[in-house]
Amino acid sequence: SYQSEIIAVGTELLLGQIANTNAEWMSEQLAAYGINVYNHTVVGDNLDRVEQAFRLAQSRSDIVIVTGGLGPTEDDMTREGFEQLTGLEMVEDKVTMDKIESYYQARNRTMTPNNRKQARVFEGARVLKNNAGMAPGMYVDFQGTHWFFLPGVPREMKQISVEELFPFLESLTGKQQVIQSTVLKFIGIGESNLEHELTDMIHEQTNPTIAPLAQDQGVVIRVTASASSKEEAQKLVADKKQEILARVGDYCFGEDEQTIENKVIELLIEKNKTIGVAESLTGGLFSSNLVSAAGASNVFAGSLVTYQTAAKTSLLDLSAEWISTYGVVSQECAEVMAKQTALKLNTPMAISFTGVAGPDEQEGKPVGQVYIAIWDEDKVVESSSILLSGNRNNIRERAALKGFELLYQ
Ligand code: ATP
Ligand code: MG
Repeated sequence: SYQSEIIAVGTELLLGQIANTNAEWMSEQLAAYGINVYNHTVVGDNLDRVEQAFRLAQSRSDIVIVTGGLGPTEDDMTREGFEQLTGLEMVEDKVTMDKIESYYQARNRTMTPNNRKQARVFEGARVLKNNAGMAPGMYVDFQGTHWFFLPGVPREMKQISVEELFPFLESLTGKQQVIQSTVLKFIGIGESNLEHELTDMIHEQTNPTIAPLAQDQGVVIRVTASASSKEEAQKLVADKKQEILARVGDYCFGEDEQTIENKVIELLIEKNKTIGVAESLTGGLFSSNLVSAAGASNVFAGSLVTYQTAAKTSLLDLSAEWISTYGVVSQECAEVMAKQTALKLNTPMAISFTGVAGPDEQEGKPVGQVYIAIWDEDKVVESSSILLSGNRNNIRERAALKGFELLYQ
């Protein structure tokens, strides 16, 4: 069997400013892959000591997982330490560099030279894509030892592990053990609440392991089990899944490839209903997301993007007088938008979005204030007032997602 170790790089860990939760999490996860973890090392941001820790790992382990020290700043020593040990050359990864450059361009900020550092990978390394942040992870096979380098930020470390590292380990260890896993998807519950509901299970996990991860579309839990046969591993996963759903099943909308858009479309098809959409702050985003799922044509009637007040008047018949009384950022407005859209598009159902995406407040309502209403047949069946956080686009995305959540309930 494989002998592995985990090295966490960062002086803040040695100073006791943060706990080494990365190693804790990784150890729990590796158990499900039948990989024994024999050592946890914490090393400060010091070139020689990092190299020393790496040298020892190279001499005794088959798999080494390093977290932290990959960032752009001077004190990040992980690359340099490994370079010093192995003599491997570093090259710039074009995909990562493009990603960093467009990030700065999009924000009209100039990139500082040290940001280039994040795009540097070892020659021949396999780049592990980071869907949660900037710096990618890397995999290097050095003289038969499998080295994985991951960012220190826990959210990024987990994301890359689940999406890139664990599938690779499966292929490595697959000869001895059969791995089965499933991803359960949740909406309407945050990562910390979900973890809270499952605290004891997360604590006691060995095989299967469960890993909650925050994603753009809500939270997911990946359940992974290993066994000597596929049936056995599948049964372990299925049993654990039932255990999880018994507690938080109300928030689970699907599994694996299923998306909330697909689920809402299925639900509308089941009810045999079409839906119209009225969008103000979301500017068409909800409709675009709905249409991104196959089958949308069965249920999506159309969308009225009424952004300026004048468009609300001309397309939805909201009179100037009505608007001066209720405003366009109000629950009343969301309700009337939904009703009028159902009427105009001749659909039994309609959903509407109005609110303040920012950067400035509007009608005395704070940035992030959003109203969503749903009309069904002859009445408003849902009228939500929510306060969302984040920047302009976060707010728009979260509002659209909330719309799906309300329709799915
Ligand atoms: P960045 O690009 O953000 O600089 P990095 O790969 O250089 O990433 P670090 O700078 O070492 O990573 O760590 C970033 C943050 O991640 C730290 O401030 C800390 O909060 C957290 N972190 C780092 N290592 C660990 C760890 N082992 N356990 C828990 N949290 C960690
Ligand atoms: Mg750093």
